[in-house]
Amino acid sequence: MAQCQTLLDETAPMRLSRFHLHTTKETPADAEIVSHRLMLRAGMLRKLAAGLYTWSPLGLRVLRKVERIVREEMDRAGAIEVSMPTIQPRELWEETGRWQKFGGQLLKIKDRKDAEYCYAPTAEEVITDFARSELSSYKQLPVNFYQVQTKFRDEIRPRFGVMRAREFLMKDAYSFHLTDADLVREYQNMHAAYTRIFTRLGLKFRAVQADSGAIGGDASQEFHVLADSGEDAIAFSTGSDYAANVEAAQAAAPDARPAAGEAMRKVDTPTQKTCEDVAALLGIALQRTVKSIAVMTGDAASGQQFVLALVRGDHAVNEIKLAKVAGLADYRLASEAEILEHLGSEPGFLGPVSTRKPVRVIADREVAAMADFVVGANEAGLHIAGVNWGRDLPEPDVVADIRNVVEGDRAQDGGELRLARGIEVGHVFQLGRKYAEAMRATVLDENGKATVMSMGCYGIGVSRIVAAAIEQNHDDAGILWPEPMAPWRVAVCVINPKNDAAVAAAAESLYAELNAAGHETVLDDRGLRAGAMFADIELIGIPHRVVVSERGLAAGTFEYRARGAGESENLDRAALLKKLA
Ligand code: ATP
Ligand code: MG
Ligand code: MG
Ligand code: MG
Repeated sequence: MAQCQTLLDETAPMRLSRFHLHTTKETPADAEIVSHRLMLRAGMLRKLAAGLYTWSPLGLRVLRKVERIVREEMDRAGAIEVSMPTIQPRELWEETGRWQKFGGQLLKIKDRKDAEYCYAPTAEEVITDFARSELSSYKQLPVNFYQVQTKFRDEIRPRFGVMRAREFLMKDAYSFHLTDADLVREYQNMHAAYTRIFTRLGLKFRAVQADSGAIGGDASQEFHVLADSGEDAIAFSTGSDYAANVEAAQAAAPDARPAAGEAMRKVDTPTQKTCEDVAALLGIALQRTVKSIAVMTGDAASGQQFVLALVRGDHAVNEIKLAKVAGLADYRLASEAEILEHLGSEPGFLGPVSTRKPVRVIADREVAAMADFVVGANEAGLHIAGVNWGRDLPEPDVVADIRNVVEGDRAQDGGELRLARGIEVGHVFQLGRKYAEAMRATVLDENGKATVMSMGCYGIGVSRIVAAAIEQNHDDAGILWPEPMAPWRVAVCVINPKNDAAVAAAAESLYAELNAAGHETVLDDRGLRAGAMFADIELIGIPHRVVVSERGLAAGTFEYRARGAGESENLDRAALLKKLA
């Protein structure tokens, strides 16, 4: 029984000879960013299908570390853990209107009786249903329920491994309040908890004003891990605590000109264009195979934006979709017939497009993710409006333009406006009464009057954090985990254990001693050649490496090296323990 408990304990010591470590030297061809490459090379993940991954024992150790810190801080902040199903009935989603409105990310399924369900992309409906039956009096408020649970979103473009997966692990929390003032208090409490979580994880991050997106509601902030590969652009001032997601910064500027206004270049109204044609018209050199172009426009009457057409794939117009982007958030893909009706055009044509006013082209990130060029259209023709925020494309124009837009918005605070890229790892929202109203979630107030509750919701991308941490912490040899996320803190590497009993025994004893002293230590007793063993230990990012060898034993020392340090040091037992303390 004692043995059994040891095996079940995640923090139990581990011999690599009895673990499943499966590293590879090959750089996977389809992995575009470093975290994805390193997670595959370290054997943390294995792909099952697009956006679906198996976490290996090594990957899971890291994921669990993140999860544990998230749980500890949520508990400390007073939130209470629950667990909701991942399959949710259509009826609940009909109550809020999101069965239609959520869009293509909602994976809909049917059971054998033809009853309809979705796989949870988020859980506002389910928790509100729970709350309306569990909560009846203001005396039960405030309350904040959270879970760490699998989510599924049928992302248009799953990519970068677990960074943008379809199935992923999210911590989602939902708070219920009698008054808006109390919601604001809890929102700040969660903000503080998130700050503690990302600080404890050892990440460089920034909280920014955000758009509330498809979740809806009032105030909202995102937490971004800063990394050049991030899909989001964020703007911040050095003169104040102003920081905003660029989309939110743009949205907050009511008369901001189109997102890349200055950078727009007029081109002739195209008729039938390929990606190459459009790129040539825009004077942009194609730096790689362009997969898609989105043409966006606005509707003068409703002020809504539309994605008119998407050119995808093999440089021909082989897919046309219309996305209605109301308030940059809710949209749906329309049928080709609807698009044609709107366009008054033939299949295969990108235009001509007639709108009565210049468009505010701020691509919803998901649209941006679909397109390598986001092209705006107005009566003057086609204009380039955004270039998928980056990577291989002519980014400086876009960045300069964002700077213009944001600066023209913002009161001068004497600081300098900086732009950075971020990976969204957390998001806090003040939802207000949107869901509780729609689902009639009420409690009796002090006077016995039924009152609709005010809600907040708070998400953290637990699995995304693992990838984000690697984006921020790596070198040529592999991952450099922040210590709180490392699969083990120390690796004791044994040189030639099979042929040298004294060395093997010394390593065993050091390994036991370090674990007993509270240093989570793994013993590399696989008997690999030193070079191969060190390469693995560096690749998987163990912060401290201790080598036990015949030579060291003779000198009474161990060879110690911190991950990322250039040199090793020979330390005796006492000095080593001091070093690790
Ligand atoms: P994104 O803008 O990156 O698509 P989101 O705004 O749609 O994210 P939220 O609805 O705010 O996501 O969900 C809460 C958190 O879940 C996000 O902050 C993010 O960390 C994580 N998350 C969202 N989508 C994914 C995904 N496809 N893969 C991994 N994590 C995700
Ligand atoms: Mg999303
Ligand atoms: Mg987002
Ligand atoms: Mg979000």
